[in-house]
Amino acid sequence: MINLDLLLEEADTIAIAGHINPDGDCVGSCLATYNYIKEYYPGKKADLYLDPIPNIFKFLRFSEEIKSERPENICYDLMIVQDCGDVERLGESKKYFDSAKVTVNIDHHISNECFGQHHYVIPTASSTSELIYNLLPKEKINRFIAECLYVGMVHDTGVFQYSCTSKSTMEAAGFLMELGINYSKIVDETYFVKTFEQQKIIGLALLKSRLHLNGLCISCFITKEEMDQYHVLPKHLDGISSMLRSTKGVETSVFLYENGENQYKVSMRSAQYLDVAAIAVKHGGGGHVRAAGCTLTGNPEELIEMLVNEISEQRKGGEC
Ligand code: 5GP
Ligand code: MN
Repeated sequence: MINLDLLLEEADTIAIAGHINPDGDCVGSCLATYNYIKEYYPGKKADLYLDPIPNIFKFLRFSEEIKSERPENICYDLMIVQDCGDVERLGESKKYFDSAKVTVNIDHHISNECFGQHHYVIPTASSTSELIYNLLPKEKINRFIAECLYVGMVHDTGVFQYSCTSKSTMEAAGFLMELGINYSKIVDETYFVKTFEQQKIIGLALLKSRLHLNGLCISCFITKEEMDQYHVLPKHLDGISSMLRSTKGVETSVFLYENGENQYKVSMRSAQYLDVAAIAVKHGGGGHVRAAGCTLTGNPEELIEMLVNEISEQRKGGEC
């Protein structure tokens, strides 16, 4: 385990960054660290860099201070990378990692190869937020930090449902609940509530979905044209792959959305035994055994066929 306080004490300038297209755990865990530094190290220069975050997370304290512009020529004493399986996933923030004097990597992706000088990478942990919870002195976790961590845990566990949820996750969540956070509201407003446009595109995705391998696998793709038609951005498509996966009898879902010319972002989920991280890693992506992703170029129907074949091969090969 790393000593976050020791690292913070030795640094005058600190950068925090997470992965591109930040999700609940990325936003929550990064803002928790940022809130901690602002609260207990007010004299230090701290910057949190993330791509624009979904509006649902903007109630978290200091979210308005997140920087999406990343100026050149800043060298930080300490760079803390959170929830990021590899350095490429830092996107534009990678330059701060490359030039920082000291680097720290806190993550729970199975594909994380422990980059950085100091790392705390626990693939069995529910979320990076749970890891930040482990690292912070309990008596120094205030209500604002608790809100950030709770958001992260809720999102990466599917509201404490996925198999990554453990006794320690629930104990951490229980501790946070006692700090005066509005836990029901957090779950409802950041996880379940969708905009009308989002509901429509979820409906479209379900209507377009197809079954493969005798109902073992479900797939669907959404084009840029469809996203424009329903006025949704990539960040609004979170949750569709999990929703597809919850179809009775399905082990794996494969969801694609167009995010460039002929380019598709792949989001896979599995229920009990398929290792989707292995498939994503093969294509330059990564993630967890039950939730992983990558980016592919080509015709979406053909890409789905290729992925379904790989799923079938893995199953036949008894790798799972
Ligand atoms: P999602 O399907 O929600 O985009 O991602 C599922 C999990 O896989 C997340 O933990 C996410 O960080 C990881 N992931 C998704 N896409 C990629 C990718 O292209 N590269 C890597 N390394 N991880 C990814
Ligand atoms: Mn995460």
